[in-house]
Amino acid sequence: FDISALDLPDILGTINEEVRARFGEGKVADYIDALANVPLDRFGMALVTRDGTVHEVGDSREPFSIQSISKVHTLTMALDAIGDALWDRVDREPSGDPFNSLIQLEYEKGIPRNPFMNAGALVVADVILSNYANPEQALLEFMRARSGSHDVGADEVVAKSERESGFRNIATANFIRSYGNIENDVDAVLDFYFLQCSLSMNCVDLARSVQYLSRGGYCDVSRTRVVSWELATRINSLMMTAGTYDAAGDFAFYVGLPAKSGVGGGIVAVAPHVMSLCVWYPGLDDKGNSMLGRYALHRFAQMTGLSVF
Ligand code: GLN
Repeated sequence: FDISALDLPDILGTINEEVRARFGEGKVADYIDALANVPLDRFGMALVTRDGTVHEVGDSREPFSIQSISKVHTLTMALDAIGDALWDRVDREPSGDPFNSLIQLEYEKGIPRNPFMNAGALVVADVILSNYANPEQALLEFMRARSGSHDVGADEVVAKSERESGFRNIATANFIRSYGNIENDVDAVLDFYFLQCSLSMNCVDLARSVQYLSRGGYCDVSRTRVVSWELATRINSLMMTAGTYDAAGDFAFYVGLPAKSGVGGGIVAVAPHVMSLCVWYPGLDDKGNSMLGRYALHRFAQMTGLSVF
């Protein structure tokens, strides 16, 4: 794919104008105040090409709560630690159910359908707790190294309210524990999960943080190989089939790029061998994906012709 033929600043400028004309659409996540209070007049978009060039538009330097986008990074860390043994504990199928659904866990005896729904991410968190001496520090270091941003950190207020309102995640973790698929103290697993959800980053940081997935596992920001080429393609495939939950089919249809969303309104996407991207708009659709973030990615795919299909 030859991106030199594309006028990327012009494309981003057009998308920015189109999105701003639609500000107000969607609904912010309201299960915690810190997310409920974000105004619906923010939009940022950033992309990082293979050679590290950044193009950005709008509020691309304003930090937001990354929420479930962090599941990409924790999955990478867990696979790095235990490799294919992870698949004995988490499946690789799209769920077709909401991100926080528990319904399949009983039929599937505590084996979550995929690592991107909350149930799967809790098992991934458990794997990290068992395999890293200082898990929280390791996650922060991973994020800082991938994004090249040394001040990436947790928003304490968000972490605290995730915990206080986290009844469903607490239930999910305990339910999985009842099947023996969580090894560590359930509260420790939940604390790690709430911490990963509460990380605060901007679009440029996030686009850089997944650049390794657009470069066959090599992170140009830290100049290190993060995962093998094969593992990078596999993480991308999981983002395609499960990264946007029960809207993964729609994302494949309209966007055609592996993507991972979070309820803070961010979505990262990967165009393998070409670029990594991040969009942010806090208003969500009924599946919990950024409404105009998705629109922006759809328009970007249309205007550039980028698609894994
Ligand atoms: N903190 C949210 C939760 O656990 C994250 C979900 C998401 O971003 N989709 O419910």
